[in-house]
Amino acid sequence: MKRTFYLLATCCLMASQAFSSGSGGEIKSNSHQPVTTQKAPPAKALPRIAIAGLGIESSTFSPALTHEEAFHAKYGTNIYTSYPFFKDGSPMRKRAQWVPTLVGKSLPGGAVTREAYESLVRKTLDSLRKYGPYDGLFFDIHGAMSVVGLDDPEGDLISRIREVIGKKTIISTSMDLHGNVSWRLAQNSDLITCYRMAPHEDAMESKQRAVENLLTRIESGKGKPAYKAWIPVPILLPGEKTSTRIEPGKTIYSKVAPAANQEGVIDAAIWIGYAWADEPRNHAVVMVTGDDKAKVTRTAEQLAKTLWDARHDFVFVAPTATLQESLDKAIASKKHPFFISDSGDNPTAGGAGDVTWTLTEILARPEFRKEDGPSLIYASIPGPELVKKAMEVGVGGKIDAYAGAQVDARFAPPVRLVGTVTAIEKGDINAEVEVVVKVGSVNVIVTQKRKPYHKEKDFTRLGLTPRTADIVVVKIGYLEPELYNMRADWLLAITPGGVDQNLERLPYKRINRPMYPFDKDMKAPDLSARLVPSSDQL
Ligand SMILES: [Zn+2]
Repeated sequence: MKRTFYLLATCCLMASQAFSSGSGGEIKSNSHQPVTTQKAPPAKALPRIAIAGLGIESSTFSPALTHEEAFHAKYGTNIYTSYPFFKDGSPMRKRAQWVPTLVGKSLPGGAVTREAYESLVRKTLDSLRKYGPYDGLFFDIHGAMSVVGLDDPEGDLISRIREVIGKKTIISTSMDLHGNVSWRLAQNSDLITCYRMAPHEDAMESKQRAVENLLTRIESGKGKPAYKAWIPVPILLPGEKTSTRIEPGKTIYSKVAPAANQEGVIDAAIWIGYAWADEPRNHAVVMVTGDDKAKVTRTAEQLAKTLWDARHDFVFVAPTATLQESLDKAIASKKHPFFISDSGDNPTAGGAGDVTWTLTEILARPEFRKEDGPSLIYASIPGPELVKKAMEVGVGGKIDAYAGAQVDARFAPPVRLVGTVTAIEKGDINAEVEVVVKVGSVNVIVTQKRKPYHKEKDFTRLGLTPRTADIVVVKIGYLEPELYNMRADWLLAITPGGVDQNLERLPYKRINRPMYPFDKDMKAPDLSARLVPSSDQL
């Protein structure tokens, strides 16, 4: 599709379309700013590009449900604040007339309710309908959303967006490498990419690449890529085995950027996929887009083969152990802080985040009963009732209250905490209120709502110093960079919860079979590239 954009300097039809976020999710046009009519050569018109997307990874093996407010939806120009490259006056911002509609991002959790999903979709579509037409759409999703009673929500969402914006608009989809790429999502996307690092230190860079690719294709008039190769790779692995910090993930993912940088190729991407949902789309995928058919297909096949050939080499990023072994080692160790990942209920992978099993086991250990026992920080457990009581007694007050197991009580009941309140902090966007309760030598962080603890500041703002603690237990899988750099030692405890790291314990029924590692003797799969029809042919 060749398109050239020309706009006379006197024409302000397009330039006037600025947006501001209004109350109640409405998008309103700003007051019209007249464009000065200086004598200038005909200016190239800026393309109109919409921004939309929903991001969450949600476990269907957790009893938790996710509601609309968890998405903290942003509307209109407020959306720019999520992307440094869209900052006022940034070069990218000047290259298009952006039409930000709705972008919602939730912490991982349980399946999204159908009501929440439909409400967010309706708002997105209403907005897109109102401000079209569009030359492009930046579709910013995670790719592992589960919705109650609906398969492949991102495929559903993009299809419904297509119905509104039409087939001509170029959609550039940006994803997490733990997302899933169904055939439907692949066909509706014209450009598609995902992160190349886990932990996702390149998240913003990847989103920017998705936008850059979109702008380049529109500005050059080259339009949609001629070829999109899609290869499903029958592998399902937890993220904790596929970090790009260690082998084989490191080498596999190091091949992605050079593959994408070839002449005739626009982008290349490998999705590990999401392991804690049970749909046919849950598996690894390789996609390559570009105009050179031979290079696009060959590159996709090479990446798929590299991934498949390495399947036996994926191991957990940290040594794993039972919780008891982890605590025994941490207590006996001379290396501090000794980190323990309470991995089965990791809220950032989709666990309910309120399983009390691990904390109950810790508090039952005699070593931590006395104030001068090994210092342990536990992050964290939601307990709104306890938080309320803590606010009543204040810092320094004594407390006796229960926390946790409101959502996921399958493994242990609410945990009783009898101790002293040492901190109360209000205002965190996720936790809302955070409280620290000292029980023996254990500092338990109790939150009003669940919150991940990934940064040193998350601890220090509560008066806790993880660097000088003997043991730090976090509901997390692989350690996020700041914690990773702080650790003197680390064990990943295989604990129970909605994101159990031992996938073979999970009751899958609907994923494609055979699938590695569940079917040990499976034959080599067909890893030849399948060319996805252009979105023009939908
Ligand atoms: Zn991810």
